[in-house]
Amino acid sequence: MSGTWHKAEHEHEWHRAELAPVTELLPDGVQAIERFGGTELASKVFLYCRDDADGRPACLLFAPLDAGITVNGEPVTTGVRVLSDRDVIGRPGSADVYFSSESLVRVEPFPGPGAANSAEGEATYCPRCRRAIDPGYPAVSCPGCSTWFHQNPEEARDCWSFSPTCGVCQQDTDLANARYRWTPESI
Ligand SMILES: [Zn+2]
Ligand SMILES: [Zn+2]
Repeated sequence: MSGTWHKAEHEHEWHRAELAPVTELLPDGVQAIERFGGTELASKVFLYCRDDADGRPACLLFAPLDAGITVNGEPVTTGVRVLSDRDVIGRPGSADVYFSSESLVRVEPFPGPGAANSAEGEATYCPRCRRAIDPGYPAVSCPGCSTWFHQNPEEARDCWSFSPTCGVCQQDTDLANARYRWTPESI
């Protein structure tokens, strides 16, 4: 799941907000938009997020042309812009916001076909045990490389947490103390 990083004036800590499928960017944070009419969104600055065919998050920023919104210092002249990880969104009169496509590592039911480490129409094989991952089986999608691993210690299939780091990209596999790899603090 993608998110945005915010820091209020006079604050020292960055706060992360998770993005809903449609999320309005407010001066002091974000707010999920559950329902809206056809013209209602036209006056708002909002993000539209969904997963692409590979299961990676993809987000678009929509902004009215007169809102003065910038991404990495460039004006959003067409009213819409595809966001990339760590893009900085600038707003007149408000603090900068950082976009992050990184998600926290977590165990979830394997979604099945279309996962990042499966060829078209084929089963997904766990890189640790080389066995197929069944749809619905407890699994982890590596936040660093999107590769799926089994994760079910009850059946001795804790393939994700077996090593301290992901065998593909070196992402930390600690589930109990999961932390974001990147925050605006690192800039
Ligand atoms: Zn496995
Ligand atoms: Zn990885």
